[in-house]
Amino acid sequence: MIPYGRQSINKSDVDSVISVLKSDYLTQGEVLPRFERAVARYCGANYSVAVNSAPSALHIACLALGLGRGDWLWTSPITFVASSNCGLYCGANIDFVDIDLQSYNLCPKELKNKLQVAKRKGVLPKVLVVVHFSGQPCKMEEVHKLSLQFGFKIIEDASHAIGARYKNFPVGNCKYSDVTVFSFHPVKIITTGEGGMSLTNNVELFNKMKLFRSHGITRDTSQMIGNSDGDWYYQQIQLGFNYRMTEIQAALGLSQMDRLDDFILKRHDIAQRYDKMMLDFPLITPKQDVNSFSSFHLYIIRLDLSKIKKTRKQVFNYLRESGIGVNVHYVPVHLQPYYKSMGFRRGDFPKAESYYMNSISLPLFPDLKESEQDKIIKVLERVLNE
Ligand SMILES: *Cc1c(COP(=O)(O)O)cnc(C)c1O
Repeated sequence: MIPYGRQSINKSDVDSVISVLKSDYLTQGEVLPRFERAVARYCGANYSVAVNSAPSALHIACLALGLGRGDWLWTSPITFVASSNCGLYCGANIDFVDIDLQSYNLCPKELKNKLQVAKRKGVLPKVLVVVHFSGQPCKMEEVHKLSLQFGFKIIEDASHAIGARYKNFPVGNCKYSDVTVFSFHPVKIITTGEGGMSLTNNVELFNKMKLFRSHGITRDTSQMIGNSDGDWYYQQIQLGFNYRMTEIQAALGLSQMDRLDDFILKRHDIAQRYDKMMLDFPLITPKQDVNSFSSFHLYIIRLDLSKIKKTRKQVFNYLRESGIGVNVHYVPVHLQPYYKSMGFRRGDFPKAESYYMNSISLPLFPDLKESEQDKIIKVLERVLNE
């Protein structure tokens, strides 16, 4: 089976991990801060906090922003459940903003309308999680302007989008947000096995996120209540978690950073080749906004079901049966049973739901061979024309 996404591991990655395994520290050593600095420098952010997953990064970001019971977190319905679950972890309420059907990202116009209604009702969101879906950055300038007007905080869930650029600046620079979050799961752009990171330019948010990552414990006397008892002393000043990333993971991540730009170029080459070879197919290929340079985490096609004699499910099954590991990203979050039990219903976010009806993610990862891509296109052509 050709997977829809997979990691690319070379000898440098392996050597980097082995050298940590032979060193004194498997966790809480020197490699993790190096990895954090490498990502922050690449993105142009002041501070970064590496953690064991993107959901952990989203959780500590929400906590640092003070999200709690009675507050509202809004996000896009077309995302992985983690983008909204982080609000539930904090006891907040969740709502969604429908997508635009060009980029499949949260739509700034829908956002503005929803904010105006929310303001009249006195229930504005405290936090908006924008998702750079498939690696294509959201219209951050518009969203940022609305955040100033309506007074909410912004977290960028950039799990798909390390290496992407918005208006020529790297995603992660937090120019238009409070915190940006990356995921380093093996299907994402770079990997640490499991892992995530939060970036910010705000030193207070940085210090809070570091506390929440590690039990709420500090050894920094300037953060302590009262005096230190001595050099052994530490204080718990918050209720935190163990969300730490190991040195083994950080070593892999640091090594992967060296190839990030190369990964993105390869992803673009593959995407362009799909575009070109499927020009006459009865489907919509990914549209790119002029202000965005996607990291192409996903290559999503939308079938024109009026022009083919099959359902999406039939096309999907045929591809899977032919050894092509296609996928669907994502089941709209508000239609998950857990969210439906909170009162969401089919019809709540019509554009997200219509997107979901005919989309399929084709395999896309740096090591995808040209011959594999040719096979994918041939099989797709066959099933669409049969
Ligand atoms: C993958 C992903 C996450 C979760 O990241 P993990 O580190 O794999 O748990 C969160 N949000 C989005 C949009 C993702 O794609």
